[in-house]
Amino acid sequence: MSQFEEFYGARDFKFDLHFEEDSNETFRFEVITDVKRGIGQMFYIVDREEMTFQKPEDVPNIFYQRHLMYYFALLFRYLNHRRTSLYLEYRPYSQLLNTHQPTSVRGERLVFRGAENWAYIYIHQHFRLLEMSWDSAWTWYLAIIGVDFCYYWVHRACHEVHLLWAQHQVHHSSEEYNLAVGLRQSVLQGWCGFVNILSTLALVIPPAQFLTHQQFNLLYQFWIHTQAINTLGPLEWILNTPKHHRVHHGCNLYCLDKNYGGFLIIWDRIFGTFAEERNGENIVYGLVYNQPSFNPVFLQLFYNQNVINKWKAMHTWEDKVAAIWKGPSWQPGKPRLGAEEDKLDIKSREKYDVKLPMWCNLYLCLHFAVVVFGFQELALQYTGMNALAVFGFVIYIIISLTAIGMLFDNRRHASIFELARCLLFVFYVQRSGLLKEETSISLIQSFFVFSSCFWILKTFKILQITAKNK
Ligand SMILES: [Zn+2]
Ligand SMILES: [Zn+2]
Repeated sequence: MSQFEEFYGARDFKFDLHFEEDSNETFRFEVITDVKRGIGQMFYIVDREEMTFQKPEDVPNIFYQRHLMYYFALLFRYLNHRRTSLYLEYRPYSQLLNTHQPTSVRGERLVFRGAENWAYIYIHQHFRLLEMSWDSAWTWYLAIIGVDFCYYWVHRACHEVHLLWAQHQVHHSSEEYNLAVGLRQSVLQGWCGFVNILSTLALVIPPAQFLTHQQFNLLYQFWIHTQAINTLGPLEWILNTPKHHRVHHGCNLYCLDKNYGGFLIIWDRIFGTFAEERNGENIVYGLVYNQPSFNPVFLQLFYNQNVINKWKAMHTWEDKVAAIWKGPSWQPGKPRLGAEEDKLDIKSREKYDVKLPMWCNLYLCLHFAVVVFGFQELALQYTGMNALAVFGFVIYIIISLTAIGMLFDNRRHASIFELARCLLFVFYVQRSGLLKEETSISLIQSFFVFSSCFWILKTFKILQITAKNK
């Protein structure tokens, strides 16, 4: 057992080791197989026996194995959009921002080491009500339905409970609606889901089946983030489709708190939260009060301040508690989800955008690639690293994402922050002795030295490059 596993008490918990082995293999050889397999899994076209596992540690990390497929799909959509001059629908930095999110979510997984899944296993081992055979078809189908049913309620709670919404809003904060939004997930939402209702599944569904179908459910939700598919005919009755999910992401009044389904839309139809997409009314995507920022760390966290402010503004203890567990639009004396007449009905608005010069876009893309590379390295090696080093690594990735976000936003002190980040990296690598071990590190080191020189010249105004704001 590594020090890190000991540190977090995650005994016998090997999910991330699979990511380690498989991502290595995927990165090197299996591009086409990966994309083909990924598309099949996305639509539940899988060999049941091949995907049935006895032990939770045998379940592969399907969602993250499919990263190549995501990038292919995004590239394909991006090129398509370029051809149809819908450049604004696919602004490159906005897409990078979305693809940041899995990195951040993986960061959370590295720190907590999937402890919420460990808790699931614990509940199942000690308190299960039913003994279901791990390889029976009944278990397989019950797990599909059970996971989706619980997803509906967890997702609904994420919209109707202010504190949970503060985490889930990350997925809704994009003003575009495309495949990349499917990757934009909240760092803390895994915990919200667990403490809500998914834990009740642990009383029935074996952990390996829960882990498998939870991932298929999430994978299915990737492709429904598109405006390219209008309608799917009779399938719209049963399945959650792009048409239904567009409504879920809208901030027009009729779209609010609607269509929570994951794989199936029937739960919304049964429990009265279904809304049909309206012809002739353009959907405005994003939050009702959208944040003008591309900074991923800020977007993950900012909403929690709104919850704290609302708590402080309440005068009685009863209202303070209600400010946390009732809906985001709730006010004292009003219904739990707020009064309809108090809500804004947004029909159109201008999207937040910052025009950056080409060199800056190129610079950010290169540094983003280094962050992704660094992150993959961490995922491959972290079981052999001590807890403090992993923690430091994750913090550095967060700092990097913040710096990249500040540059995207063209913030005033972004260049100084970026300079400090580059210098920090240069000094760390210089002192650590890593330079002797790997050529890739010395290449990255040179890149960071060059970047630091650039920002020093720019900070002292020796070099002047103007970025124009829209
Ligand atoms: Zn949602
Ligand atoms: Zn979505």
